[in-house]
Amino acid sequence: MLHPAGSAAADGQLLTMFPRIFVPLDADLGNWSQIEPLFKRLLEREIGSPEDLERWLLDHSELMACISEERSERYIAMTCDTADKDKEQDYLHFLENIAPRCKPYIHALNEEYVACEHRAGLDAGRYGVLDREVEAEIEIYREENIPLQTEVAKLAQQYQKITGAMTVEHRGEERTLPQMAKFLEETDRSVRQEAWELVAARRLQDREAMDEIFDKQRQLRQQIAANAGFPDYRGYAFKSMMRFDYGIEDAERFQGTVQELVVPLYRELNATQLKLLQVEALRPWDLDVDPLGRGPLRPFESPEDLADGAQKIFARLDPELEALFASMRAAGELDLDSRKGKAPGGYMSTRDEKRRPFIFMNAAGLQRDVETLLHEAGHAFHAFATQNEPLVGYRHSPIEFAEVASMTMELFAADQLGVFYSPADAARAKRKHLEGIIRILPWIAQIDAFQHWIYAHPGHDREQRTTRWLELDEAFGPAVDWSGYEASRASHWQRQLHLFVHPFYYIEYGIAQLGALQLWLRFKQDQGAALGGYRSALALGGSRPLPELFAAAGARFDFSAATIKPLVDAVQEELAGLPA
Ligand SMILES: [Zn+2]
Repeated sequence: MLHPAGSAAADGQLLTMFPRIFVPLDADLGNWSQIEPLFKRLLEREIGSPEDLERWLLDHSELMACISEERSERYIAMTCDTADKDKEQDYLHFLENIAPRCKPYIHALNEEYVACEHRAGLDAGRYGVLDREVEAEIEIYREENIPLQTEVAKLAQQYQKITGAMTVEHRGEERTLPQMAKFLEETDRSVRQEAWELVAARRLQDREAMDEIFDKQRQLRQQIAANAGFPDYRGYAFKSMMRFDYGIEDAERFQGTVQELVVPLYRELNATQLKLLQVEALRPWDLDVDPLGRGPLRPFESPEDLADGAQKIFARLDPELEALFASMRAAGELDLDSRKGKAPGGYMSTRDEKRRPFIFMNAAGLQRDVETLLHEAGHAFHAFATQNEPLVGYRHSPIEFAEVASMTMELFAADQLGVFYSPADAARAKRKHLEGIIRILPWIAQIDAFQHWIYAHPGHDREQRTTRWLELDEAFGPAVDWSGYEASRASHWQRQLHLFVHPFYYIEYGIAQLGALQLWLRFKQDQGAALGGYRSALALGGSRPLPELFAAAGARFDFSAATIKPLVDAVQEELAGLPA
């Protein structure tokens, strides 16, 4: 049975299905003086039995969900309208005055939990994942790091502000960089070159500013790691990201396997592109165009068309998924179009108290927008699947599996793209999607290897960083001729938001893609079983370790050639069966 968590009331407010028990209904969660007493009440509460401890965990979870929701609402409001100073101030207020003040209390509550004698009376299977996370948080917690972390977050916000403000003057019109992407698909090579050069030149204007932000951030990060007793930021990052199920050497194995198995296939695709385009050398603006000179794929005109098409696809896969998506549309939980003043990119954010997702993206009428919406909808289905889990921590799965939910949805939908296209164009779109997977895996490995190097060499300067980046670009990058654009190549990494905003958070996409491809192979054999595995694994949220989440979906958590080779072979075979 399907029970969307909220229904639209006359005043537009959502009536939640998950009423508060501990946090007062009228509490202002943007006001520290109203939050602090709630933390104190939890800290001071007598816990006399395992049942008391479970009640305490639920109240703690409720408070965290309410605070998290406040943050999400402010983040959503700001990214939907970056020009509105009040919205920016609201978010900054939360970042500066609420989040850092919560941290000492969260730490004190963690210590209280770990020290509680009644923990022994809890079900170890149920609380095992929670326990290892709380223990890791205590291990890395240092009060003196809180202002440093706030500083890093503010620098990250500066990066986003600079990127969001980037526009170019293109044929008499001011355009955002996401809006410029479609010109790279134009068949007229000079049009592509002009668009690419405008964007590249615009990015170079801020190269220095980006380098400065990044240098400040990595020094702060190094200090944070040193304060917590780690020799460098890598170990700290792995622990703070709760990477219990793989380590630095596993990440390096991933990089190596991708270089060995995926880069050759990627460069084969580059060679085919070169041949079909009949040009002397592949240039950076030649990667997105259709090699047979067909016009760009235009799957939809308006954001409504995009949402309609996605909804039809979900209907064909599973009527319950369709109903969930329809409920988001009805509740105004999709902001799909690209406009000036909107932050770049796309995301799904869960409002943790309502337990409902929100999807944000910058649709410009491209096939990649279709992929983005399917992707974010996969995340949204994950949020819905865990709605009935009482612990907010368990409603969120680790990113390595959260991205399986989203990437699998893209792959499950790959044969349904006819809702947007003619059969020939649907085949083209599918080819583009699969080629995109082969293209992104080396980039992920490159970014990951770059970050490992950066934080393993804390004393490096900008020149050494550039040298290392260019070496990695030789090892992982496409067979592209950059001559004349060396500065753009050398600073190409700056466009990767994760390096600034979420360091080390990127390999997750690669790990998850391996899971998604495994589910896709299963889907091709038995659609019902694959969808069933998908939904039951999603429902586990973050309550189990990664290998178990993968196993529940019918996939292996492994980065060796033995697991990756059959996946690369399957993609290659599928591509071979599609028209060029
Ligand atoms: Zn995602």
